[in-house]
Amino acid sequence: MKLNLQGGSLLWLRRDLRIMDNNLVKHAISKRKKMFFCFVFDNVILEDIKSSPFTEKDDKSLYVDRRVGFIHNTLAEIKKDLQQIGSDLLIFYGDPVELIPKIAITINAGTVLWTKDYEQYARRRDDKISTSLESLNINPISIKNQCIFEESEVLTNDGNPYTVFTPYKKKWLTILGDSQNLWEGYSVKQLSECAAKVDFPEDMPELEEFGFSSMSKKIKIKSGSDGAEELVKDFFKVIETYEFARNFPAKKGVSYLSTHFRFGTLSVEKIVHTLLKLIPEFEEKRTNTTGIHAWLSELIWRDFYMQILFHFPHVESSCFKKKYDNLVWEDNSELFHKWTVGQTGYPIVDAGMRQLNETGYMHNRLRMVTASFLTKDLGINWKEGERYFANKLLDFDLSANNGGWQWAASTGCDAQPYFRIFNPTSQAKKFDPDGEFIKKYVGELRELPRKLIFEPWKITTLVEGEREINYTKRIIDHDEARKKTLKRFLAISENNQ
Ligand SMILES: Cc1cc2nc3c(=O)[nH]c(=O)nc-3n(C[C@H](O)[C@H](O)[C@H](O)COP(=O)(O)OP(=O)(O)OC[C@H]3O[C@@H](n4cnc5c(N)ncnc54)[C@H](O)[C@@H]3O)c2cc1C
Repeated sequence: MKLNLQGGSLLWLRRDLRIMDNNLVKHAISKRKKMFFCFVFDNVILEDIKSSPFTEKDDKSLYVDRRVGFIHNTLAEIKKDLQQIGSDLLIFYGDPVELIPKIAITINAGTVLWTKDYEQYARRRDDKISTSLESLNINPISIKNQCIFEESEVLTNDGNPYTVFTPYKKKWLTILGDSQNLWEGYSVKQLSECAAKVDFPEDMPELEEFGFSSMSKKIKIKSGSDGAEELVKDFFKVIETYEFARNFPAKKGVSYLSTHFRFGTLSVEKIVHTLLKLIPEFEEKRTNTTGIHAWLSELIWRDFYMQILFHFPHVESSCFKKKYDNLVWEDNSELFHKWTVGQTGYPIVDAGMRQLNETGYMHNRLRMVTASFLTKDLGINWKEGERYFANKLLDFDLSANNGGWQWAASTGCDAQPYFRIFNPTSQAKKFDPDGEFIKKYVGELRELPRKLIFEPWKITTLVEGEREINYTKRIIDHDEARKKTLKRFLAISENNQ
């Protein structure tokens, strides 16, 4: 493919996998120059996935990873959409530090645009790329495109980053209220006029070329912007009940949009804009708006953890509250393994872990319950659980995952106090009262009557009628574990008076 951008913009897509509602496109359109899209399968990230002990392989020893599959499916859609307007998406595999400047020179780009990323690896990589582009007289521009407010846009009146959510949210809402025209789109026609045309579009590379199995593409969630839009439509029909329904994993009470937010197949700015328009519409119809406000609050948590990661990068490798780096955790690989495969003997914990392993998604309530179980019942370091989730979650996002784990382990900012320890049995009774979710994922318990499903260890013979219930024995006694955890944390608190 021969392409000469004549000083136009190369748009390097990363976690912003959409061609509409994308601030990079908006920027390029405003400059009235030609633009062209590329994507790089970053070999540093892919090697990391390949070297994880949790990554599965197919029968040809190719790696299976749902995220890589979701990206591949989405890129295929973007490529098709761009080809329909005479343009294309170039897809590479390798080290972006070497590739991006090379591509920019080859196609004679004057600017390279990308979405700002707040993770340490990405920041270091992007800095290196900026330096080499500048040395080539090519302009690197990074643009906010995956959150509403970033970096230091929401600070305390003293100019410090917030570390507590509620005042952060208050300030966030104030700034949002002050900012006019939060979001403005562009038309397909505008995109089409600026997208550089190619004579010969290139074929889509196969995942096998990077060592990944096509099985990675077998995912339940529909990829791309169309997939995101379908979910938005479904969710907006029930958003009114979100505040209550979001706690019950057996109900379809949440949006299931996290993967789309993660990969940018959906613009968070456009969504917030839509929500703000929805509030007066609901009020006019006298419909309850608490669901909208509660959901907006979750999107603010997303920004909150991103700015925590930006201002306190030490959280990537250690506790937000540094004194907790001295906690003495249990080192028990057998119990850890049982937790990962959903064989703890606590039905709600096992149901959550099996949902994660089978689908790549876990309901928020269960993320809290399973994370609490690992850290407070098994006494295993939150970093182990964080690493496992990071490998299995389709929506894995370093800032939200790290924030969630440190919240559950009580080591984070604005975390669950260490003495508030989830009881997995009462959590199950409260949030899965009919045992519906447990039965869906823990097939061994499907035949049990409701009153026995939450504490199967109380069945003395483990026999139901003629059939034996073949469910694992519980691996720990919650009450004993709770006492041990309190001692573990008290030891730290007393040493740090
Ligand atoms: C231990 C643990 C690990 C987690 N790991 C991740 C992760 O890797 N990626 C991730 O996106 N979320 C993570 N979360 C947050 C939350 O569980 C998921 O965002 C949510 O379950 C996704 O489902 P949903 O899209 O249906 O959420 P909804 O309830 O519909 O929420 C809407 C959106 O708000 C954002 N959001 C919701 N809750 C949070 C939160 N607590 N922190 C930050 N953003 C939030 C997400 O983008 C989500 O899609 C984690 C939570 C815990 C307790």
